[in-house]
Formats: sequence, structure tokens, C-alpha cells
Amino acid sequence: MKREKKKKRVVIALGGNALGKTLPEQMQAVKLTSKAIVDLLEENCEVVVSHGNGPQVGMINNAMAALSRENPDQPNTPLSVCVAMSQAYIGYDLQNALREELRNRGINDILVATMITQVRVDENDPAFTHPTKPIGYYMTKEQAEFAEKNYKYIMSRSSDNQYRRVVASPKPQEIIEIGSIKALVDAGQLVIACGGGGIPVIRQGNHLKGASAVIDKDFVSELLAEKLDADCLIILTAVEKVAINFGKQNEKWLSYLNTKDARKYMAEGHFASGSMLPKVEAAVLFAESKPGRTALITLLQKAKEGIQGKTGTIIGID
Ligand code: ADP
Ligand code: MG
Repeated sequence: MKREKKKKRVVIALGGNALGKTLPEQMQAVKLTSKAIVDLLEENCEVVVSHGNGPQVGMINNAMAALSRENPDQPNTPLSVCVAMSQAYIGYDLQNALREELRNRGINDILVATMITQVRVDENDPAFTHPTKPIGYYMTKEQAEFAEKNYKYIMSRSSDNQYRRVVASPKPQEIIEIGSIKALVDAGQLVIACGGGGIPVIRQGNHLKGASAVIDKDFVSELLAEKLDADCLIILTAVEKVAINFGKQNEKWLSYLNTKDARKYMAEGHFASGSMLPKVEAAVLFAESKPGRTALITLLQKAKEGIQGKTGTIIGID
């Protein structure tokens, strides 16, 4: 009997550039993204996909707010529902493009599915009292006051007197649908899960109540990778490698980063919060969660070279 080399299980986290910012942009972007994902399948990987939703959840949130302005019978839509909508919409475009790319390469035995995923957060998470994640469009003072009064939004003001809604970004505690995700992954299906960080919910006995928050996709991808006992967490973003002294004269791009140095660099402020910092934090958590686990941060278009060890930044323990 022919013995197959054991497949490497990877969870990939897709960032903003994998999806674009508008409906037509997304439909185009997912084609390239699907090529990168199917490249990994052809590198003998078992792939699980998660993704962010910054622009999409902002867009949906604004559209739903416009609906309730037009029609007073329509109360404003909870943010948890907006995240659910973003999962379905992004999942639709991605699974459609993935199915097409698989068929174009003559791979007909891999099924693609999107799992609507709820993620439990702690209602006492300090993020709820300090919302930091901006979503949606920039507003004038008048628009911001209207939203504060009528929708109970928390607004933040930037230095140039522009206003933006900020929401809490609590840490993911538990992936509610993990059993279903695992069953599909174990059956060899290509699964898209935990989209947009997952739908944030708080446990109230048997009831899961939607929370007004957006969970960071890098952290939930890390949790997903741990729970699926993945070998590698791959964060695909808009840079090929992680740098120290980023953007400065003495900038240095890193091919390998051990978790000890990563912690030191984090403390020294080398990684911008809200962009590179959560990626490095997630990578460190994963690499330290079990011997043999590594994380890779690289450019979406370089996923294949990354898994071959030719580029990107690998985060591991020495
Ligand atoms: P995504 O949408 O994929 O989550 P982000 O834009 O949030 O991506 O984060 C990736 C960006 O982080 C890069 O494009 C880069 O501009 C920025 N960045 C900040 N600090 C660093 C660093 N030290 N090394 C590399 N990139 C960094
Ligand atoms: Mg981001």
C-alpha cells in the first residue's frame, strides 16, 4: 500500500488585503486569495481558513443604521448580528471562489463549507469598559452626536476632529461550534470558520447572548489552531516579513523570531498595536502552546513560498 506523508494541518488567518473594502473589490480579491489557499493544499497541507471583517462589518453596520433612520419601525441592528451577516457574506464569496479554483485545478474531492461561528467572550473583559476598535466611516460632530444619542454608540474623536465609532475587542474564550468545525476538518473538508473574529456571545445559562464587540481575528485564529491541534498558524497579511525598527533607517526584516525575542520586541514597542502587535502576540501564544507548533507571518501572495520555508517570518521556540 502506498503510504502517504502525513498532512500538515494549518490554520490561516486572512487580513484586510485578502478581501478588499467594497463588494466588487472583495469579489476580485477572493480569486487571488483562493489561489494562495489552494497552493497550500497542493503543498500537502490540510487547511482551515479564518478571516477578518473590519471594512465589511463597518459597511453592514452603517447600512443597518441607515435602515433604522429611514424606517422607525426598524430598531438598530446589534453589532453581533452585523458580525454574523459579515461571516455569511464573506463566506459566500470565499467558498464560491475556492470551489472554482479547486475545480480549475482538477481537484474535485474537497468540499468547501463556511461555518457560522459563535465565540464566547467574558462579560467582565476589561475591553468592554475600554472600547478601542474603530469600525465604520468617519463622522462629523453632528452625526456622531446623533449616533451617541440614538444608537448608544461610543464615539472616538481623532486629532483632526473626525469621529468614529469604537467598539470593544474582548479576548476569545471558547469557540462554540468547535465540535462541528473539527468534524468537517477531520472529514477532509475545506472549512471557513471564526470569520470576523467570530460572533461575540456571552453565556447566560443555556442562552448565548450577542455582545456588542468585534473580536480580533488573529487571536481567534490562534485559539482555533490550538483547538484543532494544528501544526502551523499562518497569518497572511500585507507584508512579507515582520520587522524591528519598522519604517526606520535601521529597519530589519526577520526570517525567524523565537518567542523570547518576540516578547522583548513587543515590550520595546516594535509592533504597531491593532496591526502587527496582535499578530505577533497570537504567533507567540501558538508557538508556546505545545512543542512542535510554529507560526508564520507573511504576504498573502507568498503563502506557498512561506510554507516551503523560503520567505516570511517563522515564530517558534528554539
Ligand atoms: P491585516 O488586515 O492583514 O490584519 P494590518 O494592516 O492590520 O493587516 O497589519 C499589517 C500591517 O502592519 C503591515 O502592512 C504593516 O504596515 C504594519 N506593521 C506595523 N508594524 C510592523 C512591523 N514591525 N513589521 C511589519 N509590519 C508592521
Ligand atoms: Mg488588521
